Amino acid sequence: MTEVQSQYAKERTIPVLICGGGPVGLALAAELGFQRVNCILVEQGDGSVPVPKMSQLTTRTMEFCRRWGIAERVKKAGWPENHPCDFVYVTSLTGYELYRQKSPSYAQRPELSYSPEGPRHCPQIFFDPVLLEHVSSLRTVTLWHRIRMDSFVEESDGVAVNLTDLESGEIETIRTRYLVGCDGFDGLTRKTLGIEYAGEGVLSFSVSIFFRSAELQRCTTRGGQDFFDSSMRTAIGVISCPSMDASYGA
Ligand SMILES: Cc1cc2nc3c(=O)[nH]c(=O)nc-3n(C[C@H](O)[C@H](O)[C@H](O)COP(=O)(O)OP(=O)(O)OC[C@H]3O[C@@H](n4cnc5c(N)ncnc54)[C@H](O)[C@@H]3O)c2cc1C
Repeated sequence: MTEVQSQYAKERTIPVLICGGGPVGLALAAELGFQRVNCILVEQGDGSVPVPKMSQLTTRTMEFCRRWGIAERVKKAGWPENHPCDFVYVTSLTGYELYRQKSPSYAQRPELSYSPEGPRHCPQIFFDPVLLEHVSSLRTVTLWHRIRMDSFVEESDGVAVNLTDLESGEIETIRTRYLVGCDGFDGLTRKTLGIEYAGEGVLSFSVSIFFRSAELQRCTTRGGQDFFDSSMRTAIGVISCPSMDASYGA
């Protein structure tokens, strides 16, 4: 933690401390910033997104982006307006096409009667940086990267949160009225509070790998679409997008 951060931590009880800077934590920070509520977001990582993960944003998510003034940036960060959005199920990348689920490009889609925004493709490796840039610009939001929450204790008027600076090894306790666990499906907050998951458990496994290849278009005539390799037990999503600097996702 820097000296300024340390000073801030010692002198103030922050209204909200968000643990986790994935899309959920960043979205909460964006909303608190919108409402001018002071908050600190602590994230153990450095803000980069090493794994592609989610690719599709729902209409409701896009409505939130519109509310925060970043909808247009999100649209530009994802697939281009004219990119075809068909889902194509194939035996392999160069194999047989089994089924095609037609889906027009965003430019061809009619406006929705119930919302000014519609669903969008904007994989997390593109989406999170837009959210992060926006949240970084908000006056009431303080972002601390490479800071890990190790434990917390509920007190009469809030929560004492123990943090470790992963760069210096320094340990710090800060007090907050509300701690919000946005630390992912296996997060410390849920586990410490003893909150169990209900339901069937793991339903399936999916993998996303992004890679760049100028050769992919030469291997297949299908053009810019999404492919799912049905020959694998685990679904592999390949997202090809020739207009985006020959970048492809799998
Ligand atoms: C292959 C794949 C495809 C997917 N496709 C879609 C899709 O199309 N649409 C969709 O909506 N979703 C999709 N998802 C799901 C989506 O990626 C997750 O729901 C989303 O990432 C969850 O966000 P989150 O912020 O809750 O958690 P995470 O993204 O896991 O973020 C949690 C953050 O908390 C930080 N953290 C954890 N513990 C601590 C701690 N103690 N101290 C400090 N920081 C901590 C972590 O470093 C991490 O950055 C997909 C997921 C996968 C794996």
